[in-house]
Amino acid sequence: MEKFDLHIKGIKKSFGDKAVLKDIDVTIKDGEFVTLLGPSGCGKTTLLRIIAGFEKADEGAVILGGEDISKKSPAKRDINTVFQSYALFPHLNVYNNIAFGLKSKKVPKDEIDKRVKKMMEVVNITDFAKEMPATLSGGQKQRVALARALVNEPDILLLDEPLSALDANLRKKLQTELREVQRKTDTTFIMVTHDQDEAIAVSDRILVMYQGKLVQDGSPEDVYEHPVNRFVANFMGECNILECGKVSDKVVRCAIGELVVEKTPTWSNVNCSGGVAIRMEDIHVCTEGEHFENNVFHATIKERIFRGDYWELHADFGPLTLRVMTDPDQIYDPGDEVELYMEPQYLQVLED
Ligand code: ATP
Repeated sequence: MEKFDLHIKGIKKSFGDKAVLKDIDVTIKDGEFVTLLGPSGCGKTTLLRIIAGFEKADEGAVILGGEDISKKSPAKRDINTVFQSYALFPHLNVYNNIAFGLKSKKVPKDEIDKRVKKMMEVVNITDFAKEMPATLSGGQKQRVALARALVNEPDILLLDEPLSALDANLRKKLQTELREVQRKTDTTFIMVTHDQDEAIAVSDRILVMYQGKLVQDGSPEDVYEHPVNRFVANFMGECNILECGKVSDKVVRCAIGELVVEKTPTWSNVNCSGGVAIRMEDIHVCTEGEHFENNVFHATIKERIFRGDYWELHADFGPLTLRVMTDPDQIYDPGDEVELYMEPQYLQVLED
């Protein structure tokens, strides 16, 4: 185990009779950028608060670098938190906001000056050193909050929806900056978000939570390309889900016919017993002369929607309609007859 790996061990938490965290067990490696991703109410913030020490788990432990820190107060943990609301001290200028923690720890003055200036450079706010928080924009405030947390050189930085109060463009810019700051400081970042695009943009690893459970743990590519169940498939972006029954280990049957898949379903072979997901960008519209061994189906284009950088086609198979993405130069009109190919590697056999 590395020095500052964080082991969240068998954490359970209820509020009244409501189980909010149901046996969360995961290790976050030193220096990783991990996001806790999930819909409102799934327990992300509660888990973050347990890591920070603001909340106590009913069962389980928080272990940092081999040491059980579950009973330590938040101030005694080398963990800092950046909140959505920034929580800057309104009566202190930017420099003093960042220096505050070091001053209270009685760090020598010249050392404070060196660290504060360095951190202001890292988050790009050197020009604002003398400004008061009230004069700053949302993005600038968030940078100050980040610098104030990182100047203490915590083992872990927790970020609770840090960008959600910002407009879409600034949010994208700060996502890139957040990633850069994390690399420069080589600190473990654990961020809570309910925005899958944000999680994909910044993370080394995404922990998808649903109803108090950790349902998938993987890289952004893995979670997007290989969702384990219906919830993750839909939550990670628009997805077609086909209701299927199992025919054999690598063949399933849905309403439009038999599909060859790569993974053996865990569900049984009764009719319509499980789901197979395919993203709209992974359905291929065959051009003349193209030939595939299997998974080719005839459909009629019902609708074509312009989405800026692609077309969304609604392909009607009779019993069902699938959404298909095509390039802007691939024009199909409603009424066109097409052959659609679904490559086995893109058909994700779900757990449910
Ligand atoms: P959001 O994205 O909306 O913040 P979340 O995934 O972070 O959601 P939590 O804030 O962890 O979810 O809350 C999980 C559940 O626990 C919710 O149903 C919430 O109402 C409940 N809850 C959280 N804190 C408390 C509390 N102190 N007392 C009672 N119930 C609570």
